[in-house]
Amino acid sequence: MLSDDFLYQLKQSNRIDSVMSSYVNLHRRGRNYVCLCPFHSEKTPSCTVYTDTDSFYCFGCGAGGDVIAFIRRIENLEYIEAVKFLAERAGIPMPEDAKDNEYSRLKTKILEINRSAARFFYNSLLSKNNEKALRYLASRGLSPNTIKKYGIGYAPNNWDSLKTHLLSQGYSEEELLAAAVCTRGRNGGIYDLFRDRIMFPIIDLRGNVIAFGGRIIDGSGPKYLNSPDTPVFKKSRNLFSLNFAKGAKSERLILAEGYMDVISINQAGFENVVATLGTALTSEQARLMAQYAKEVIIAYDSDGAGQQATHRAINILGQAGINTKIIKMEGAKDPDEYIKKYGAIRFKVLLENSGGAIAFELEKCRAGIDIETETGKVEYLKRCVQVLADISSPIEREVYISKICSEQNVSKEIIKAQTEALIKKRINTEKKLETTAIFSRAQTQDKINPEAMKFLKESKAEAGLIAYLFFNPDKLDYVLSKLPPEKFVTSFNKKVYEKLANIIKNSHDFSLSSLNSEFDVDEMGKISEIIVKNKDIAISEKEADDYINVLLGHKNNNAANSDLSDEDFINLVNEIKKSQHKMKGDFYE
Ligand SMILES: [Zn+2]
Repeated sequence: MLSDDFLYQLKQSNRIDSVMSSYVNLHRRGRNYVCLCPFHSEKTPSCTVYTDTDSFYCFGCGAGGDVIAFIRRIENLEYIEAVKFLAERAGIPMPEDAKDNEYSRLKTKILEINRSAARFFYNSLLSKNNEKALRYLASRGLSPNTIKKYGIGYAPNNWDSLKTHLLSQGYSEEELLAAAVCTRGRNGGIYDLFRDRIMFPIIDLRGNVIAFGGRIIDGSGPKYLNSPDTPVFKKSRNLFSLNFAKGAKSERLILAEGYMDVISINQAGFENVVATLGTALTSEQARLMAQYAKEVIIAYDSDGAGQQATHRAINILGQAGINTKIIKMEGAKDPDEYIKKYGAIRFKVLLENSGGAIAFELEKCRAGIDIETETGKVEYLKRCVQVLADISSPIEREVYISKICSEQNVSKEIIKAQTEALIKKRINTEKKLETTAIFSRAQTQDKINPEAMKFLKESKAEAGLIAYLFFNPDKLDYVLSKLPPEKFVTSFNKKVYEKLANIIKNSHDFSLSSLNSEFDVDEMGKISEIIVKNKDIAISEKEADDYINVLLGHKNNNAANSDLSDEDFINLVNEIKKSQHKMKGDFYE
């Protein structure tokens, strides 16, 4: 248990607005701030930061909580790790007795295993019997320095060499499975996941080996095999080589398609290059890049698939607010081949001359159309309007409209009017979609408190009381004397009431943060929702009494069941059966 004093100091040195502003752009709105939610995709901000309660809440996806809950979510950390993270950020020493929990011990163990495995692969590459692997790397033009820099290794061609090595170091089979360096076979035994592959360790910004990518040299099997997600690794929120790219301190990142491209570009002298980890670019990765760069140059393969992926990436990067450029390679299928053929200097020229995303998309509009015919020209202009409507800067839009219109010899006014009409239409559709999402969130089943739908009135009264205590902790004795926790109807609210009462009783500085150790991030979101929804209505003592009476009256309702007619009684029983069935279903979902 962390002391109140420590938590108070931690929060004073990590104000929620200052911490959040290093992840998102905050805009002031009255006393509060709003921002685009970093936890779901949206174009109009539904995430609010409340400086008075030092908390945030997203009306779009329900994420919420205090600064610790924010860090837990965005950095994907356990409670105690998030506290450590914030303590480090502010330079506050962690209390001696802040013991790691089991999960974070497992994470530490996995990182040790990964480091040990990376060393094992590296040593296996350099030992004599691996001519094949070394020859392959030499044929790809990798220098010994690059191999060392990236810690590239080789997984031997048998089923248990890594397993035997790690077991001999004292790790258990369970731990090897958790780290996903081994996998379980049909006969129940475990074996090495990577065999006869060139191994690329994936390293995070703190220098930890968090996963591996393995490339086949020859023979059968998938060309690339990547570690599955583990407690220390989420594919969708990491990037290969970001540890080097971050150090480059460039405002610009190069996004390549795979490990070999990244290594080759890096070896040619460009440290600021990254790649996704065997999957298409995700919005989380785009937001990650936005933290380190204002501009991304996409350097994907020049084939059809690469161009398709480029188109997709432009959209995702655009949504993250990143200025995007696209490299135009001629005479090579990928950056690796280009650099080998023409050298680093010409690659640099290529980077400098990379075109904007809009030019790339406009160019694509011509595909498959004969622009010389009337119908072809109309189709082309229609497609162009779709692209032009994506441009957020009015000046830039004007420039492109003028360019296209003079090229095609058409009236600027028409294209401009069409583009503006489309922009208006899109904004309306988006607004509608986002409102519907918020509305349906309020209507649909509540995953955190599934009983709330069944006991609407009671759960509302419970929420009211929780908020009342939150803002009036001095009223605890009064409320408790009238309403013991067992009178609460829904079990989630009951737990919140119990924990809240406990913390208020035992703490001299009570805040939302005190609840972090008891609830997970989704539950913290739910608690924030209760507080946010009640924060501006200042519940009076009279209202609190009403809520108490609703809950005290709940049992009486049940006792009154004997007065029901037989028919009503059967209906009620069926209702209860149905809702219990439904609740069970949700619980095991
Ligand atoms: Zn959200």
